[in-house]
Amino acid sequence: MRVVIIGGGLGGMATAVRLAKIGHAVTLVEAASRMGGAIGTVTKGDFAWDTGPNSTLLPAVLRDLFRKSGRPLERELELVPCTPTRHVFYRKSKKLGEVDLPSGSRGDQIAALNEMGKDLGAQWAAYTDAFADDWEALRKDFFERPWSPHHASKHTMALMRSRLTLHKAVNRSLKDERLRLLALYPAIIAGQDPRSMPAWMGLSSYLEQNFGLWKVVGGMGALSEALTQRLDTRGVEVLTDTRAIDLVIQDGQVIGVQLPDGVLDADRVVCAIDPRRLPALQHATHHNLPAMPPLMCHLGLSGELPQMPDEYVVHGDPTLVVRTNNQAPEGAGAWTLLGRGRINDDLVQTLANRGLDINRNVDIRLTRTAKDMVMEWNGSPYGPLWRGRGTVTRTIGNAGPADGSLNGLYLAGAHTHPGAGLPQVGLSAANVAQLIGPA
Ligand SMILES: Cc1cc2nc3c(=O)[nH]c(=O)nc-3n(C[C@H](O)[C@H](O)[C@H](O)COP(=O)(O)OP(=O)(O)OC[C@H]3O[C@@H](n4cnc5c(N)ncnc54)[C@H](O)[C@@H]3O)c2cc1C
Repeated sequence: MRVVIIGGGLGGMATAVRLAKIGHAVTLVEAASRMGGAIGTVTKGDFAWDTGPNSTLLPAVLRDLFRKSGRPLERELELVPCTPTRHVFYRKSKKLGEVDLPSGSRGDQIAALNEMGKDLGAQWAAYTDAFADDWEALRKDFFERPWSPHHASKHTMALMRSRLTLHKAVNRSLKDERLRLLALYPAIIAGQDPRSMPAWMGLSSYLEQNFGLWKVVGGMGALSEALTQRLDTRGVEVLTDTRAIDLVIQDGQVIGVQLPDGVLDADRVVCAIDPRRLPALQHATHHNLPAMPPLMCHLGLSGELPQMPDEYVVHGDPTLVVRTNNQAPEGAGAWTLLGRGRINDDLVQTLANRGLDINRNVDIRLTRTAKDMVMEWNGSPYGPLWRGRGTVTRTIGNAGPADGSLNGLYLAGAHTHPGAGLPQVGLSAANVAQLIGPA
């Protein structure tokens, strides 16, 4: 079967290599001149920074992708655990405490949190333990299988129907302000409002605790390069600098993709971009809004720098993240700052106001706004904005519009189920490959 995939981010690349491996003739259409979408590297001189993600939960998803499309991941990339993340908590300008929180171990998290305050470890463990059953149910019904209410268990349906928001659940379960900030932070940094998200979205804390937080040695650009190589090995035809303009539809069947200079015929089309970008899908997506990227600043640093973990998070308002796991020349530092909330345009100064002053170390500063990123990738890699539990139903699933109005269309990537983030996007590709099946 001829399959055309629109978008060469992780979602599009992962779908392409999986489908090519099971015998399909795959063409991948990418608007930019390089593959990877949000996964990439920005360089200046001898410095290189990850443009988007720089760590991942659930490394098994990437391992499965590499194994199912050819050689195992270990032969191509080195995936290693991140160092414990330093969390520094603020209420207004008052510092409430800090903790170096390891991932991948419940016991180590309990011990670290108990050092910050009596019984905090037990409180946190009670909060995260409550997600164990939810994860088992959602994994089978929502993450590792194309979502449909028809096959979902009672447990999953109860979660999907629940009006309990993440914000309410966290306030109910966690009495300590620092733990509440810790629980809400993954949503905040992804541009989401915990008041509009279901409580089960808090399970990323459970996943981090149980399966760890991982990074790619050499940066996430190496992941993009390995997948670009895999596209070649699998014989995927890659058209870079080629923007898909719309779907071509005949009698409810998607039969191709409109390009600027003609039509690419297809038996199946996979949309791995924000579907709002394709006029034919606007009727099904007009009520969806994207979650926007944060303000971002890549820094080249010299001089004496503090010893830093891979990730340093300042909680409160503003929320700041410092990612140090980038490539710098010997004796220098390559950090990326991400900021949300009450920030001024100068993230370095905002960080200094929170006790980490590196103003004098900054030699290179590359600032990227949310608008810059959305323009660069023709959409937001953070996927749909949660606006209540109905967001799941409003989002077009891996099998296309739920009313079956478009045959032959599939969706992968951050804008479909199970959502944004590298593991979710990797799972969306596995779901599409499962739906299309072998040639
Ligand atoms: C700043 C930032 C930090 C992040 N940090 C993390 C993290 O640490 N861990 C994590 O798990 N996730 C993180 N994420 C989220 C993660 O990066 C994304 O969810 C994921 O990479 C999205 O992949 P995708 O393929 O769906 O989309 P994208 O990466 O956005 O790729 C879409 C691709 O489609 C192309 N395209 C768009 N329109 C067209 C068209 N009409 N025709 C052809 N091509 C088109 C674009 O050029 C792009 O290459 C982060 C995201 C950002 C922005």
